[in-house]
Amino acid sequence: MITDHPLSFDPDEQAWKPFRDATSRWVETGEGGVACATCGAVAPVGDWQFGFDLGAPAFGFWRWPPLDVSFCGEFGNQLGHRTEEQAGTF
Ligand SMILES: [Zn+2]
Repeated sequence: MITDHPLSFDPDEQAWKPFRDATSRWVETGEGGVACATCGAVAPVGDWQFGFDLGAPAFGFWRWPPLDVSFCGEFGNQLGHRTEEQAGTF
């Protein structure tokens, strides 16, 4: 999230708005992205790399050992679309 740290941890509303709008469109329609301010290239929400992943559906594996690579591969194959593994909790 874009913040005005170290002044505070509140999001910079002007900077965050395009990302919030794109995320809302993505939730509603499955499509959303933000255009680069420099070159205009659009980065789809699903391609953003910012330390955690957005996706739907999401699955949690509570109290499991670390997920095996082959399990993650087969799980993704069964789902039939791109998957990402995210450690930790929200
Ligand atoms: Zn660019």
